[in-house]
Amino acid sequence: MHGIADIVAAALPEDERLWVPQAPNVWFRPLFLNTVSGEWVNVLRVRKAGMLNRHRHPAPVHGYVLKGSWRYLEHDWVAREGMYVFEPPGEVHTLVVDEGEMMTLFHVSGCLIYVDERGKSVNYDDVHTKIEMCRRHFTQVGLGADYVRQFIRT
Ligand code: FE
Repeated sequence: MHGIADIVAAALPEDERLWVPQAPNVWFRPLFLNTVSGEWVNVLRVRKAGMLNRHRHPAPVHGYVLKGSWRYLEHDWVAREGMYVFEPPGEVHTLVVDEGEMMTLFHVSGCLIYVDERGKSVNYDDVHTKIEMCRRHFTQVGLGADYVRQFIRT
């Protein structure tokens, strides 16, 4: 017997309400939100012209591309369907999608520190801001703020 509930859920739900808007043309599907370790797992969905602002991570990020392709403005490689991406601590990058739609499963171990052109911190996202975005969105679409609870591990 163990005290922590399993999570078994559609990673790519048909129900559009389960995709939480993060920025124009950027959404995430929450799967695991750990308020003790600070890590989270989500599927990021970005459609063309969508962009994840320049940011840095203080802890490792693992990604697996489920659909489409994307790249970082700071690198010359393209992440394509089926590829694994590792973002080391200290890495600074800006995620862009050149065509269509991409979906990537990300395991983020800490946070995203958004930085300006000179690398100065301007904002951040962590497991708590992600939970807050979920609560706000799930309230708006009628699922209720507590809908996010099924993904929270403490
Ligand atoms: Fe990143």
